[in-house]
Formats: sequence, C-alpha cells, structure tokens
Amino acid sequence: MKNCPQCGQPRLGEEFKCPSCDVFYSQLDELLYEEQQKQESQTLKGAFKRICAAEDRSQAVRDELKTLWRNTPLKTKIVIWTVIAFVFVLVVPIF
Ligand SMILES: [Zn+2]
Repeated sequence: MKNCPQCGQPRLGEEFKCPSCDVFYSQLDELLYEEQQKQESQTLKGAFKRICAAEDRSQAVRDELKTLWRNTPLKTKIVIWTVIAFVFVLVVPIF
C-alpha cells in the first residue's frame, strides 16, 4: 500500500507506520515491523536501548546480562569458565 489507510497520506520512505496516525500501511508492514523489533531485541543495540529506557538502570543491566547468559550456548559457557579457571590458576600463585 502506498497511502495510509486512515488519512490517505502518501507513504514516506521505509516507514512501516503512518507518522501522523500510527497505523500500519499494510499487514505485511506490520509483520515486517514485528520481525525488525524481534531482531533488534536480540542485538546489543536493542539491549542498550532498553537499558537507557529503564528507570532503574543497574537493575536493567543485571536483567540484560541474565538474559545474555541464558542465551549463551553451553559450549561457550564452558570455554568462558575454562578461561577464568586458567587465569585463576596462573594469577593466584603469584600472590
Ligand atoms: Zn495516516
């Protein structure tokens, strides 16, 4: 659809919604928009945005880290723990 279904204003660039009435230009645009939001929520940029928007930022950071850790594959976790263990073993005898 090239025009807004509500006010009839022509579509602007890559917008999914009409800027004046906040209505999607078509059902496809709605799907694309949701997909974009979903993808953004999985990126660091999306996490950063949520942290900035949160009232309690330190709580938001903790929540994001928790989600990040939950989404980390087991293999990656094992690698991280191994690295930490190695650093620990190497550093501790010095003190
Ligand atoms: Zn409109």
